[in-house]
Amino acid sequence: MDCLFCKIAEGKIPSKKIFEDDRVLAFHDINPQAPVHFLVIPKKHIATLNDMTEDDCELVGHMTYVAQRLALELGCEGGFRTVFNCKEMGSQTVYHIHLHVLGQRQMGWPPG
Ligand code: IMP
Repeated sequence: MDCLFCKIAEGKIPSKKIFEDDRVLAFHDINPQAPVHFLVIPKKHIATLNDMTEDDCELVGHMTYVAQRLALELGCEGGFRTVFNCKEMGSQTVYHIHLHVLGQRQMGWPPG
């Protein structure tokens, strides 16, 4: 499968890895939008949030927990933003789900 994030998860394309276990990988975003900006991805290929099934609930919950733990480790105890972009209208560009974690600057609302 020609998927950028599958290749990163398999180590075929390098990334600035922060954390890895048997189910997920976290790495710094190549084009950071905040002083802290990393992505948490499942090793399993799920193209968009719309492709998630009930069987994936525990996996996505684990992604959220890993995001929170790493955000705190990276100094975001004052708060941070998490984002899943979904398909064209959500500005998704990489079709392998990823949880953005942004921190160390004041976030605005609503997002663009
Ligand atoms: P999306 O727009 O929600 O799909 O976000 C994709 C994110 O992946 C963007 O923030 C990109 O900067 C990031 N990205 C794309 N390619 C790479 C890479 O090779 N390494 C790390 N981050 C990447």
